[in-house]
Amino acid sequence: VSAVAGATPAVVSDFGSAIVAAAWQALETVMDPELPLLSIVDLGMIRLVEMPSADSIRISVCPTYSGCPAYRVIRERIREVILKSGVQHVEVREVLTPPWTSDWITERGRAILRESGIAPPIGRFGSNLGNSEHIPCPHCGSVRTERISEFGSTACKAQHRCLECLEPFEYFKCI
Ligand SMILES: [Zn+2]
Repeated sequence: VSAVAGATPAVVSDFGSAIVAAAWQALETVMDPELPLLSIVDLGMIRLVEMPSADSIRISVCPTYSGCPAYRVIRERIREVILKSGVQHVEVREVLTPPWTSDWITERGRAILRESGIAPPIGRFGSNLGNSEHIPCPHCGSVRTERISEFGSTACKAQHRCLECLEPFEYFKCI
């Protein structure tokens, strides 16, 4: 996973790596409360999973936006699923640098968005490209689309319409 770039190697033993792999799997079941289609792994929120000792796991999490009330819920869910996987101690560590941007959403996360009729963010955070008007339609792929509203069902999404297939769709903004 590219999201652990720059991190120190977490485990050395096979025993440890099996536990870490199980932890990643468990984390994939924790959905974002505001975007229930995507897990916190799909969103690229998990920076690192380590085993500081044989019976403990440390999860480094980057909140999607600071002060987000959903983050408290996410922390609790992480603790829950990891404890359920049989590990005795869980430490959830918050990582704020580098900050989360929509660039961290994984390929799998983007595919899930597309399948659900939501156009994933295009371009890179900080470039204006991703917030241009002509977002490819997730239904037919046409770029003949227009923005109807700056805000969709949540603040991170905008409402668009395809001029080719006439379907409305949401666009996950580049944030
Ligand atoms: Zn279309």
